[in-house]
Amino acid sequence: MPVYKVAIKAQFENVTDLEAPGEDFQYCIKTQCNTCNEVSEKWQYVSGDEQVEMPGSRGTCNMLYKCKLCNRVNTMDVLVQKKSCTQQTTSPK
Ligand SMILES: [Zn+2]
Repeated sequence: MPVYKVAIKAQFENVTDLEAPGEDFQYCIKTQCNTCNEVSEKWQYVSGDEQVEMPGSRGTCNMLYKCKLCNRVNTMDVLVQKKSCTQQTTSPK
């Protein structure tokens, strides 16, 4: 299963830290099918504290979605234990 990192770009003023707090943080994402590369039209939410049964008794995952184009069922987990924050600072021009 591939692992993806979330990256954001923002301009802050008087902010010292930015993080996704706790396992219940909801990431708002668009998904892309692993088989046909179809991108979902709607934004979806995935959270590390939600558990969904995977078909065929393969355990649980944090998110399950069925591709509208090829009908493949894709799953996703939030790796809460690997969550860390790094920052690159640049000065505004
Ligand atoms: Zn697909």
